[in-house]
Amino acid sequence: MHDNDEAADEVADEIIDTLRRWVDEVVVPESSALELADEYPTAMAEQMEEFGLFGATIPESHGGLDLDHVTYARVIEELSRGWMSLAGIVNSHLICAKLIDRFGTDEQRDRSLPGMATGKLRGCFSLSEPDSGSDAGALRCRAVRDGDEFVINGTKMWVTNGERAGIVALLARVPEGDPSGSSGITCFLVDKTPGKHSGGITVSRKIDKIGYRGLETVEMSYADHRVPADRVLGGPDGIGNGLRWALAALELGRINVAARGVGVAQAAYDAAVAYAKQREAFGKPIAKHQAIAFKIAEMATKLHAARLMTYDAARKADAGERVDLAAGMAKLFASETAAELSLDAMRIHGGNGFSTEYPVERYYRDAPLMIIGEGTSEIQKLVISRALLAED
Ligand SMILES: Cc1cc2nc3c(=O)[nH]c(=O)nc-3n(C[C@H](O)[C@H](O)[C@H](O)COP(=O)(O)OP(=O)(O)OC[C@H]3O[C@@H](n4cnc5c(N)ncnc54)[C@H](O)[C@@H]3O)c2cc1C
Repeated sequence: MHDNDEAADEVADEIIDTLRRWVDEVVVPESSALELADEYPTAMAEQMEEFGLFGATIPESHGGLDLDHVTYARVIEELSRGWMSLAGIVNSHLICAKLIDRFGTDEQRDRSLPGMATGKLRGCFSLSEPDSGSDAGALRCRAVRDGDEFVINGTKMWVTNGERAGIVALLARVPEGDPSGSSGITCFLVDKTPGKHSGGITVSRKIDKIGYRGLETVEMSYADHRVPADRVLGGPDGIGNGLRWALAALELGRINVAARGVGVAQAAYDAAVAYAKQREAFGKPIAKHQAIAFKIAEMATKLHAARLMTYDAARKADAGERVDLAAGMAKLFASETAAELSLDAMRIHGGNGFSTEYPVERYYRDAPLMIIGEGTSEIQKLVISRALLAED
């Protein structure tokens, strides 16, 4: 290991230690009440700004922390161990930043990334629509050129952080001119005023969710909303490249979701172990009944495997390797593990697991999102099998 690597590891460990203390002292005690009330965690988000987490993966040259993927995964895991919604507050923001950093023009980077790194400018990512999710190429939102502007019309669904955002990475179809052959799907960097209305953009409804509460996920409508042509991601060459670029940026999202799965699974496991040691039945702690002890052994094994797979995908991304296979497998396994372990933890809690007085019911409600967002488990299996079965 080089000295530089050792120094970087020490910095990463310090970040994780600080975060772990904050999660234990502030997030764990306060999150259930905020989540049940569906209340935005303003003070926690401010603390995350202070930690620099809105710039976690933004280059230092633009004011970010430029964390490697492994450290980023560990950060997301810690946040999610406390409350998975906190990871959601930074995830779509950082996917938007990743798109700008990787595929934007110098002017686009200089304009947006410094503000995004501080968290003062919040980003969101808007691909899904009422009639297209997994089949993203079927999206209908249209952007029609009119001189130096594009006029946008359409409806977008499931825009996490959409109301608070000041910049939207919006995927829309440019009907004319399709140099790439990818049906003209283009990513626009849409500037907006945070809030429900901005120009022709309306936050038409806030979606009520069974979990992942506290942060907003909204429907957004565009009615003749005008965007300057220089807000096409990547400049004029960006026309038609939007979907390919968005799918590349979603690889960061898949590592994020895998890490969220590990964090929620860890929280479920910790709660199950603590409860099993103190709850007595038939004259001894339930942990001393072999059925419960074996369940805990299985939980720990799956949790360990999910963590190793997530770090493996992150390490490959850090080494600049292709990560579609590793990130797809990690996301599939870690998200399914989170769902399984949250139900296991609930079983071990008996009736108390079904009560809002214990946090396991929240893990049980949060976990399914991870088997849906950033590509469902079925879509991960498509990605994995395509990579495995590709002809040389
Ligand atoms: C809380 C939440 C937050 C979200 N945040 C965002 C966001 O910020 N930005 C954004 O753009 N999107 C966001 N999404 C949308 C999310 O990415 C989609 O829900 C997801 O991609 C699935 O799309 P869908 O809901 O349209 O389901 P569908 O694509 O309609 O899928 C329905 C079912 O069919 C299966 N299926 C589909 N195609 C195939 C196939 N080829 N083979 C086998 N099975 C298939 C799916 O696996 C699933 O089981 C969010 C979703 C949720 C629930």
